Amino acid sequence: MIILKTRREIEIMRKAGRLVAESHELVRRHIKPGVTTKELDRLVEEFLRSRNAIPTFKGYNGFPFSICTSINEEVVHGFPSDRELKEGDIVSVDIGATFEGYVGDSAKTYLVGEVDEEKKHLVEATRQSFYEGIKFARTTYRLSDISHAIQAYAESKGLSVVRDFVGHGIGKNMHEEPQVPNFGKPGKGPRLQEGMVLAIEPMINAGTYNVRILENNWTVVTVDGKPSAHYEHTVAITDGEPELLTIL
Ligand code: MG
Ligand code: MG
Repeated sequence: MIILKTRREIEIMRKAGRLVAESHELVRRHIKPGVTTKELDRLVEEFLRSRNAIPTFKGYNGFPFSICTSINEEVVHGFPSDRELKEGDIVSVDIGATFEGYVGDSAKTYLVGEVDEEKKHLVEATRQSFYEGIKFARTTYRLSDISHAIQAYAESKGLSVVRDFVGHGIGKNMHEEPQVPNFGKPGKGPRLQEGMVLAIEPMINAGTYNVRILENNWTVVTVDGKPSAHYEHTVAITDGEPELLTIL
């Protein structure tokens, strides 16, 4: 069942989302060669707790950290560690915050110093695929119109769309119905309705879309070792333009 949110609930989700956006700003300011992903994890956790928010991922199905940091061929669910970021890396940082009982969820891929053209193209096209998708995040469309637009754009740029992980409804729980794939035929699934809130999150690979999970049982990597990027916002469907909740 898709849980529609009232305007009052969306107001709270805007606050949760803003804390996620502020966390991303904090990360953006600290990303540089030599920084460890554990330092980023600690920064975000301290920031969120100082604002009376909870890092949603910590303990979620046993996930041991506050944020996910996925470097280069890592797709999602990378563990923060003592590994230092180095010039030429890309790192996808996924952040969830629970505030007054509601969740915001947003991911971005950051460039570390100077990055090669393949990675730059991947990161920019992944971001743009999200914006292509949300052109259809309106009540005149169906759910898979978003999915289709993301896939069509990513593939037109010579990239592939991860199949095994998808976006999701979001509210009091991080993962609610419906699932929001980043691929598929248009015109399928539920008609979009005011009050739906969706975490739309293309995960896009430079090579094949096939992925596997590392021995920590969490971290997803591309099977061909080529880089992957991620871009996510929590998006409210309104009677007009979609509203991004995880922005400043
Ligand atoms: Mg996320
Ligand atoms: Mg998500």
